Amino acid sequence: MKLRIAIQKSGRLHDDSIKLLKECGIDINNGVNKLKTEATNFPLEVFFLRDDDIPQYVEDGVADLGIVGENVVLEKNRPVRTVEKLGFGKCRLSLAVAKSVDYKGVKDMDKLRIATSYPVILEKFLKEHGLTADIHEISGSVEIAPGIGLADAICDLVSSGSTLFMNGLKEVEVILKSEAVLISNDKLTPEQEAILRKLQFRIQAVKKAKN
Ligand code: ATP
Ligand code: ZN
Repeated sequence: MKLRIAIQKSGRLHDDSIKLLKECGIDINNGVNKLKTEATNFPLEVFFLRDDDIPQYVEDGVADLGIVGENVVLEKNRPVRTVEKLGFGKCRLSLAVAKSVDYKGVKDMDKLRIATSYPVILEKFLKEHGLTADIHEISGSVEIAPGIGLADAICDLVSSGSTLFMNGLKEVEVILKSEAVLISNDKLTPEQEAILRKLQFRIQAVKKAKN
């Protein structure tokens, strides 16, 4: 019996996900070009996937576990269990407007055109604030939307803010603070749960050692 864990194939979470497994004492020969690999000293198989697909795969049981940003978990809104925050991949999902805008508060977002790759989270935020806006879903390069006249504001992931700055934008509201999390299928067998507990125990030890 092995657990199958899905991690990002390439991108911002890939290296830290591999690093975490290694710090847990799990030996894997990581080949970025491979679709999957097996741990040699722990009952774990590692699948390399696009982060957006990970919640769905975990829900369907194609993978038992996944490492993905909370932002993706909340956006995909799949019935999976979040078992552990992992302390890396930290970022914010924020609203930003042109630097020149005299922004006074969230009410200023009402009726604007907002470009985002996170329509589900944005819609919920707007509803909670009693606002309506025209959400333009785009899959990448959201930060250029105001400059080309596609939108008045954006809702996008920010870490340092330098991408916003370079595009003449400023962060005005934080909608969500996110980091990488370990998610699990919610129907694991007792045997699978036992392996997950072992993994969680090691992850917690690694986190403790860093504090
Ligand atoms: P994929 O090819 O797997 O779909 P991607 O382009 O969607 O990759 P990345 O840009 O690699 O995703 O980001 C993966 C995750 O890293 C994000 O979902 C988020 O949780 C986290 N992250 C941390 N800082 C940032 C940042 N500044 N911008 C974007 N994502 C960030
Ligand atoms: Zn993605």
